[in-house]
Amino acid sequence: MAKVLIIGAGGVGTVVAYKCAANPEVFTEIVLASRTRSKCDAVKKAIGSDRITTDSVDADSVEQLVELFNRHKPELVINVALPYQDLTIMDACLECGVNYLDTANYEPRDEAHFEYSWQWAYREKFEKAGLTAILGCGFDPGVSGVFTAYAAKHYFSEMTTLDIVDCNAGNHGKAFATNFNPEINIREITQNGRYYQDGEWITTGPLEIHKPLTYPNIGPRESYLLYHEELESLVKNFPSIRRARFWMTFGQEYLTHLRVIQNIGMARIDEIDYNGTKIVPLQFLKAVLPNPQDLGENYHGETSIGCRIAGLDKDGKPLTYYIYNNCSHEEAYRETGMQAVSYTTGVPAMIGAMMCLTGKWKRPGVWNVEEFDPDPFMEQLGKQGLPWHEVINSDLEV
Ligand code: NDP
Repeated sequence: MAKVLIIGAGGVGTVVAYKCAANPEVFTEIVLASRTRSKCDAVKKAIGSDRITTDSVDADSVEQLVELFNRHKPELVINVALPYQDLTIMDACLECGVNYLDTANYEPRDEAHFEYSWQWAYREKFEKAGLTAILGCGFDPGVSGVFTAYAAKHYFSEMTTLDIVDCNAGNHGKAFATNFNPEINIREITQNGRYYQDGEWITTGPLEIHKPLTYPNIGPRESYLLYHEELESLVKNFPSIRRARFWMTFGQEYLTHLRVIQNIGMARIDEIDYNGTKIVPLQFLKAVLPNPQDLGENYHGETSIGCRIAGLDKDGKPLTYYIYNNCSHEEAYRETGMQAVSYTTGVPAMIGAMMCLTGKWKRPGVWNVEEFDPDPFMEQLGKQGLPWHEVINSDLEV
C-alpha cells in the first residue's frame, strides 16, 4: 500500500521497524535510515525482512534529508531520531511533499525547553502543501492523548481533572541507566516541574511534589510530578480540564545517582573546554552510560502508563475513569529485542503511521494525536501488542 521511511535506528526505531514489517498490508516498503548505517543493517538482519532497505543520513541537514527523500520517495516519514531533528525533517517533508510523524516535540540543543510552538508554527505550511504532520505519537505523548480523547468521546460530558501516570516497575540490574536516550531523558527529569491549574501554569522545583500512587499488578510506587509536553496540547484541546498533571515513578537508587550527576556538573548542556576539545558534559555522560537498547536482555517487570480522569459523565453525574496499559519488559524483548519503554513508544508510532496511510488520520496541517478520532487507533492498540484496561468510579488517589 505505501512506502514508509523511518529515521533513527535506536531502541524506538528498532521497534517501529519490527512493527511495520509485521503489518505488510499497510507498509509494503520500509526504508530505515539513521546517522550510523551499520545500526540500520543490524536491525534489518534481526528482522530478516526483504522489504526493508537501509540508508544513512545526517538528519540535522535539510539538504541530506531532501536527497534521501528524493532517493526513496516515501509517502510518510516516521521521525524517531532525536527531538533536535524535528524541524529539519519537517522542512524536508515540505520540500519533497512527504507526510510526517514524530514522538517527541522539538527541543533546541542549547536549552532544555519543551513546547509545541515551534512545530505548531508549521501548521499553515503543511495545510497549504496538503500534507499531514502528526506530533507526539509515542506512548506519552501519544497514547496518553488518545486515551484522553477516547474518554471525552465515550464517557464524559465534561472532564475536569486529568492526571497522566507513568510507572516503570522494571528492573534492568544496572546501578544506573536510562530507558531511552540518556541525554533527552536527563534533560527532561532535571527540569522544574509544572502543572496546569485553572488557566495557569504552576512551576515547582524539580521532582519537588511526590506521593505514592498504586499501579495495577504492581502496587504503590512513589510518583513525582514532572512537566510533560502533552499537557500543553491537551488543556488546549479539552478546555474544560481545570487541572492537568503528569506523574512518573523513580526508585531511590535512580534519584541518588541523578543527584550526584547534577551535583558534579555532568548534567550540564553547555559546552566546556576539555584539553582543547569542546565537549558537552551530558553528551559525554551518554557515551559512558549503558545503551538503552542493550537493557532488554535482563529486564524484568512491567511498565504501567495511563490516564486518571475525573468529571461528569454523559448524563451529568460525577465520574472517575482510569485507563491504562501494562507492558512486560520480557515480552517486549522476546518480540523485538528491546525493552518495554522502547516498545510502548514504537508500537503507537507505527499505529499512527498506519492511521495516516490508511486515510483515517489524514488531514492537511499539523496535529496532536487527540485531534483525531481515537477509535480506529484504540482498535489497533490491543491487536498490535498494547492491550488497555478501564476502571470506572474507583479512587483515583490524585
Ligand atoms: P536512541 O538514542 O536509542 O536512538 C536515536 C537514534 O537517532 C539513533 O539511531 C541515532 O543515531 C539517531 N540519530 C541521532 N541524531 C541523528 C542525526 N542527526 N541524524 C540521523 N540520525 C540521528 O533514542 P530512542 O530510540 O530511545 O528515542 C528515539 C526518540 O523517541 C527520541 O526522540 C525520544 O525522545 C522519543 N521517545 C518518545 C517517547 C514517548 O512516549 N513519546 C518515549 C521514549 C522516547 P546514532 O545511533 O548514530 O547515534
